[in-house]
Amino acid sequence: MARTWWVVLMLLLCGCFDSQWGETKRAQARGAAAANPSQINRVALADEEGKAITVPTHSYRVRAYVSQRYRGQTVDWNHTLRSTIDDGNQVLVPGVGVRLQVVSADPWEPSNEDDLESVLTQLEKEHPADDCDWVVAMVSALPITTSSFHKQGLARVLGKHIVLRGVGVLGERDQIDRAFDQLDESSRARLAKQRMAHRAETVLLHEIGHTLGAIHETSAESLMFHSYDHRMSGYTGRSLSIMTAGVRDRNATSPEEHEEARREMLSRIAADPDGGWVAADRTMLQTLLESRGHVASAPAQRTPATPPPATDPQPSTPAIPPPPKELTPAEQELFTRAWTLGREGKPEEAWTVAKPLFKYETSFAVQDLRCQLASATGVSFNVARKECEPLMKLTMSPDAKK
Ligand SMILES: [Zn+2]
Repeated sequence: MARTWWVVLMLLLCGCFDSQWGETKRAQARGAAAANPSQINRVALADEEGKAITVPTHSYRVRAYVSQRYRGQTVDWNHTLRSTIDDGNQVLVPGVGVRLQVVSADPWEPSNEDDLESVLTQLEKEHPADDCDWVVAMVSALPITTSSFHKQGLARVLGKHIVLRGVGVLGERDQIDRAFDQLDESSRARLAKQRMAHRAETVLLHEIGHTLGAIHETSAESLMFHSYDHRMSGYTGRSLSIMTAGVRDRNATSPEEHEEARREMLSRIAADPDGGWVAADRTMLQTLLESRGHVASAPAQRTPATPPPATDPQPSTPAIPPPPKELTPAEQELFTRAWTLGREGKPEEAWTVAKPLFKYETSFAVQDLRCQLASATGVSFNVARKECEPLMKLTMSPDAKK
């Protein structure tokens, strides 16, 4: 779904807006609404009956190390850093009972700031988390926008170190100014600011998720999807359940408590065998946890191997969305068939199959499919845009559901 909006946004950004569609300003307002980032859900883990599970909150000490280039690029960097952590806390406290507290923010120069993996390794070596719970390094922003999380941040699964890049993407504000030139200055500034804050918060939460044991998921709306999207809206219950056990592991003060937390993480993965994990990550985490158990039972070899940083999986194909319930069984079949054909690179065939469904103007799933297929068939911008109109309307309405 996200990709759809990216396509629409990029079409708007390229300046090829055609006045024959008129009402430029209204269309830009719609585009701006679509480009607005999602609010990240501040939810607690729910029990089987859907009731929120309250987790006790503890404060955790974070030491921050900030490169010179980051400091140079980020206006009021100290405030920016702390407000990103505060935003993250709004999600972490209700979700897993973690409140991050920055106890220091000092200058630090990594030898190769362009390579996050080398920054992470150097950080672990030079600043072991002896007297704190997390060590976070802030390094310079990328010169271009990237959707890959791990070009924007890096951490090891169950590690204590995180590297984050600044989010002041050069040129993004210019693009927004060009795409939405009919909107007033304050609306454009607000959009740019919200997009930056959302990116900073999601990258932090994604990497914190890894350090608490969360692995990549296949749903693009999950914070644990491998690539960034401005519509990301929160951790899934699946991730929160692993992370809750990860927090227990951090709080553990005896080998028995560590062992209990480890077993809990293993059972969480086993309980949800194919429910949306990226398979390779799931195997990696299982192997890691099992090796820790082996280490725990053999005190002579107490040096657990350093897990590799969480890396982007090969672009995994997200699952085909379930057909909307308002469709008849025959129509539901068409919906799934159209998605499948689209995935197989046959958008024209998929379009023919899906066409009878387009009358469902208020179904987000149907209109999203319509817009994606229209964009994929290579028709002209104007034709694709017309097919995407119902989706744009749905996204604009305050109660729009994805
Ligand atoms: Zn990741």
